[in-house]
Amino acid sequence: LVDLDRRHLVHPVSSYRGHEARGVRVLRSAHGARVVDAEGRELIDGFAGLWCVNAGYGQDSIVEAATEQLRKLPYATGYFDLGSEPAIRLAAELAERAPGDLNRVYFTLGGSDAVDSTIRFVRYYWHAKGAPERDQFISVAQGYHGSTAGGAGLTALPAFHEGFGLPYDWQHKISSHDLYRNPNAHDPEAVIAASVEELEAKIAGIGAERVAAFYVEPIQGSGGVLVPPAGWIKAMRDVCTKHGVLFVADEVITGFGRTGPLFACDDEGIVPDMMTVAKGLTSGYAPMGAVFLSDGVYDVIADGAGPKAVGHGFTYSAHPVSAAVGREVLALYEGGLLDNGRAMGARLQAGLKDLADHPLVGDVRGRGMLAALELVTDKAAKTPLPAEVQPATRLFDRAWEAGLVLRAFPTGVFGYAPPLCSTADDIDGIVERTRTVLDLTLEDP
Ligand code: PMP
Repeated sequence: LVDLDRRHLVHPVSSYRGHEARGVRVLRSAHGARVVDAEGRELIDGFAGLWCVNAGYGQDSIVEAATEQLRKLPYATGYFDLGSEPAIRLAAELAERAPGDLNRVYFTLGGSDAVDSTIRFVRYYWHAKGAPERDQFISVAQGYHGSTAGGAGLTALPAFHEGFGLPYDWQHKISSHDLYRNPNAHDPEAVIAASVEELEAKIAGIGAERVAAFYVEPIQGSGGVLVPPAGWIKAMRDVCTKHGVLFVADEVITGFGRTGPLFACDDEGIVPDMMTVAKGLTSGYAPMGAVFLSDGVYDVIADGAGPKAVGHGFTYSAHPVSAAVGREVLALYEGGLLDNGRAMGARLQAGLKDLADHPLVGDVRGRGMLAALELVTDKAAKTPLPAEVQPATRLFDRAWEAGLVLRAFPTGVFGYAPPLCSTADDIDGIVERTRTVLDLTLEDP
């Protein structure tokens, strides 16, 4: 398998030849929060795949729901005026639970195409309002919004732009709240005030009448699990409301219990105009993402003037098997997984906080079942681990050897997003195995 993978399967994010040299790690099976590799070694999956297997592995009821749907009706296009029962019911169930009046759901295949779909919905909204000149988009530095062209341009990670002509000239950024190195971190009000000022200045610089939408993750995931101070999201929302700018919350990572509630916006006391989700929507058992549109936004797009997103659709949008999976996953969340995730999230945060004294740990942050450790060589100076000394792959490999799957970011950050079904043993194992990796790294940098 390793040899076949080297010759045939493309892994761009792992740098082609680097990936070939290291070789693929093949997983054979999984249960709960544990995965088993090809040699039969069991590891704790501290990252739920790619922050997505929120319900955990081996959930029989999901397998049954998918199997039943595969037998009954494996495909019905949502492209034209056709549909299927699971997709319609899932849309209704989601609308009932989504913040405020986010009652309209458009299904995609994952997060990137959900974000790209919002770009179209935003543009058509402004056409319908008779203001097509509102075509400028703002997002946040260190944010991640996908790999497709539109989402990658809103993303603020340079590797997603290089050589690809991104970001587009209509895509702008403001700074991240990134509290760890923010000199005002001790004063959340000052952090919020600085961001409000920057967003106001950015909108004024572009011209408020030109700004279409603002995109933000409630907690920045791929940027290194950056948690804003309480009230930051609401303050950004207020600036957008003041200038009539649409507010789009990207809950692809934070949705479905990852931070505690079903959606992180529930904790922020805000209702976005649009919201994107994926990952935990189907917990990785089938590909699916979604865009939520508020009733007000939907009605404008549907009834207003100008072109509309009628030239937009995916063959696998509203896929019945993914939808059947999504319905069962939702039932599991409400049948106890959200509660367990909240309890285990508190245990994870407390356990990782216990590692804060370690000489290599500069910062411990997160919320619920979403967390990060930032590794530094000098705690006072907050000096990042030099990439050439500690490439992320080496740290990842060390964790793997210790029996833990985590995300090792190239910035020297360990990311955690365990399944919500994790047991106390799983969580304690994640913390203890992390301690082993830190000790090894201190001994042999
Ligand atoms: N938005 C956010 C916030 C994400 O974290 C991701 C994926 N990590 C995406 C969008 C893109 O989702 P996908 O990989 O499913 O296309």
